[in-house]
Amino acid sequence: MFGTACAGVWSAPGRVNLIGEHTDYNGGSVLPLALPRRTWAAAAPRADGLLRLHSADAPGEPAELAVARLVPGSVRGWAAYPAGVAWALRRAGYGPGGADVHVETDVPLGAGLSSSAALELAVALALTGLAGQEADRRELALLARDAEHAFPGVPCGIMDQTAAACCITGHVLHLRTRDLALRQVPFDPVAHGLRLLVVDTRAVHALRDGAYAARRAGCEAGARALGLRLLADLAPSQLDGALGELEPSLRPLVRHVVTEEVRVGRVVSRLEAGDPRSVGELLTAGHASLRDDFAVSCAELDLAVSAACRAGALGARMTGGGFGGSAVVLTEEAAAAGVAREVEAAFATGGRRPPRVFAVTPGDGARRDL
Ligand code: ADP
Ligand code: MG
Repeated sequence: MFGTACAGVWSAPGRVNLIGEHTDYNGGSVLPLALPRRTWAAAAPRADGLLRLHSADAPGEPAELAVARLVPGSVRGWAAYPAGVAWALRRAGYGPGGADVHVETDVPLGAGLSSSAALELAVALALTGLAGQEADRRELALLARDAEHAFPGVPCGIMDQTAAACCITGHVLHLRTRDLALRQVPFDPVAHGLRLLVVDTRAVHALRDGAYAARRAGCEAGARALGLRLLADLAPSQLDGALGELEPSLRPLVRHVVTEEVRVGRVVSRLEAGDPRSVGELLTAGHASLRDDFAVSCAELDLAVSAACRAGALGARMTGGGFGGSAVVLTEEAAAAGVAREVEAAFATGGRRPPRVFAVTPGDGARRDL
């Protein structure tokens, strides 16, 4: 692409959140795992301060930007993600003067599997790697989050970048977003005769971004009305009393956040007790809460979950922000093929675009590959 050999290849994974949805901006817990699908960045340093960016998954000429002149709002399109990372790194004293970067991915883009954070962390590792710097993983995640806020302008939480930076094989990452405490929790579905399936519904609803902002504002209003800094500060034992103090439209939002936090805690306990099978019912209960209380599901996600459960899955839920994107399904290995078939058949009967169904195992976070 650039007529020079690369100095190295770095990569970072997409992620799927096992449970803990819409909790990350409320100070609550999330439980993502890294997908075995990744974004790779091959990079070489440049002495002239230019950042040249090319993606196999974005048609067109490479973007060419002067690192020292990057400011929020100055870059359009996909290049805003890696340019934002270069900007955030530079402000924190990291990164080379300039670089040529080529990226490729097998994470589906825009499917709720966090191709954006995979791209950010692959580039962050590449740019610090080129400069011979070793940055703390959590700091890199925070810088990538700042980059996504400032450059493409997406008001995301901290889960996606932390998952891409910090996940390890065979584990889910228990991230407490209030203080960024993290714990690796063993989760090896295959060793237990289980399969974790991702269903990419390939649906994206126009409501998505507006609904995210509205739910987030609703949660903040709920916390304010209850005199809390963060909604996740509300103890489950105080939930009923608190609901009575809130205006009706905020009640289901608060109920979702508080009950979801309880479900995350139960999933962690069951995984640590070596009982991943029993996690299924908590996934399905989480879906009901997102559908009925938080109201962020949609026909495609409900269809994927109901078809999977009908076919004998242990449990299933939408994952990610909602209004499209992906669902996650936990099933016995022996039932996995039948579950996938039932989900595909349900979409075909409804005349919908065929979903992509694939099995995942918890993979590695960001790393240097070459
Ligand atoms: P998700 O993170 O769930 O995949 P987002 O909307 O947050 O969805 O991010 C998707 C966007 O990120 C794409 O539209 C594109 O702009 C950018 N992106 C992610 N990965 C790549 C890539 N490998 N090449 C080019 N652009 C990418
Ligand atoms: Mg994203």
